Amino acid sequence: MIRFDHVTKTYKAGTVALRDVSLEIGKGEFVFLVGPSGSGKTTMIRLLLREETPDQGRIWVAGREIGRLSSWRIPYLRRNIGCVFQDFRLLPTKTVYENVAFALEVIGRPRHVIQTQVPPVLELVGLAHKRDNLPHELSGGEQQRVAVARAFVNRPLVLLADEPTGNLDPATSQGIMKLLERINRTGTTVVVATHDAGIVDQMRRRVIELHRGELVRDQARGVYGIAT
Ligand code: ADP
Ligand code: ADP
Repeated sequence: MIRFDHVTKTYKAGTVALRDVSLEIGKGEFVFLVGPSGSGKTTMIRLLLREETPDQGRIWVAGREIGRLSSWRIPYLRRNIGCVFQDFRLLPTKTVYENVAFALEVIGRPRHVIQTQVPPVLELVGLAHKRDNLPHELSGGEQQRVAVARAFVNRPLVLLADEPTGNLDPATSQGIMKLLERINRTGTTVVVATHDAGIVDQMRRRVIELHRGELVRDQARGVYGIAT
């Protein structure tokens, strides 16, 4: 589902954010991406979304080499990838329902499709009863559940999460991870970049560790490890 082949990414200032990274992530896998701050995790996510391009190497998502996509195809790539961030990024003036529906509106889904697809996803994340609330009326954990619903409502092949529990307490974080596991069980490939040793050690999934832009560990049923 995801493949990096000898990928190097250098930013303008000369920082090598990724150095000769090769890896494969299969369909339906659940993977943690760990490593100290500045090790290149966000850069990997930005490359997958085609917000950045590699200076060397090639990247495939769902069988397509994304480094060579013409610009009109980039939105179609992004339809296949749901994304969740540390800071939720909800639209503050839209309700829970509208935030999730908006993800389908922007890709031109007709109203009747939106009306049938949004309610079951709100059920899935346990927020059907808050559908008419605004984001500021929700707890942080609930806001992140809305963000997960929005990322998943289009049934993407891949769900990327960049520090999804970074602003949440441990109990709430566990709830979000349970939700990501549930989404993974539907066949969606899930990649979670995180600093949260607690959840990584608890879940024992595949762990890919970066250090200064290099892949230093790829471990099945792994732990967070000693790096901080
Ligand atoms: P992480 O997500 O693991 O904290 P990042 O991918 O954000 O790591 O950053 C990797 C390296 O690239 C860091 O040294 C960071 O300072 C640098 N970097 C990230 N984004 C940019 C940018 N837009 N311009 C210049 N340097 C950047
Ligand atoms: P829809 O969402 O309307 O069902 P798709 O997003 O599946 O349509 O595909 C629309 C167009 O984008 C098609 O031409 C398809 O070949 C192309 N496409 C689909 N997935 C990708 C991808 N990952 N990268 C580039 N183009 C893609």
